[in-house]
Amino acid sequence: MRNTGPIAIVSAMQEEVSKLVELMNGEPTTVGSRVFWLAHWHGHPVIAVLSGIGKVAAATTVATLIERFGVKEVIFSGVAGGLGDDVKVGDVVVAKELVQHDFDASPLFPRYEIPLYARSHFPSSPLQHQCLVQAAQASLPGLARAMQGEHLLAGLGVNAQDILVHEGLVVSGDQFISNNAQREDLRARLPLALAAEMEGAAVAQVCFDFKVPFAAVRVISDRADDSASLNFTQFIEEVAAPYGAHVIQTYLEMRPTHD
Ligand code: SAH
Repeated sequence: MRNTGPIAIVSAMQEEVSKLVELMNGEPTTVGSRVFWLAHWHGHPVIAVLSGIGKVAAATTVATLIERFGVKEVIFSGVAGGLGDDVKVGDVVVAKELVQHDFDASPLFPRYEIPLYARSHFPSSPLQHQCLVQAAQASLPGLARAMQGEHLLAGLGVNAQDILVHEGLVVSGDQFISNNAQREDLRARLPLALAAEMEGAAVAQVCFDFKVPFAAVRVISDRADDSASLNFTQFIEEVAAPYGAHVIQTYLEMRPTHD
């Protein structure tokens, strides 16, 4: 484990990275087709980067963060579709472990198992995970101020007071889960899954390879069902981006500057 180097903040969508870069006043460096934004923020060297959407884009971005920038930990911040019964739009899910729900090398290997790793589930790092859970919980009271999108949350039937922070299994795949059949299929196959997204398990696998601590936080943008694409872009811009940035700032404030 490395104790020096910047903390990397990775997001899949432009709105999320733009919000972070604006707040931290980052300086850009381009490697390949990614722009890495460097800053000193809340007492830490930090790099924010747009991974783009999907497992391959996320994996190459994180390999670059580790190899080129020597980051000491990777935090993924983004949105996800809620799968658990009590995981509603506006809630936060902090990933305790992650699985690629679309990985299937059976019958050679059990479904979801990644060949040569002898595992399907990749854990987040306990220290970073706990700190992220605490940051998500601590940010709830200040959330209303951080968001311009309270009317949007209210329009989705979400009351800021009812927002919950969940921890558990997050599943990733190269699919936007946006109909009831896909949702029910996933829930039947992976009943413990709290949320579905498109990058986390890939990032967890790369961090596992390089022994770099990793944790991930997702704001629930939709219920991964027939209504998933309604309000999606507006939700990211007005709710999830400021909300995610608020959680990350709280995380950096709480995180010791030296381990
Ligand atoms: N319409 C969007 C598509 C975004 S894809 C666009 O045009 O840009 C969805 C992104 O949000 C991915 O980065 C994924 O990690 C996350 N996500 C949110 N809800 C999801 C869902 N229901 N299924 C899969 N990924 C989801």
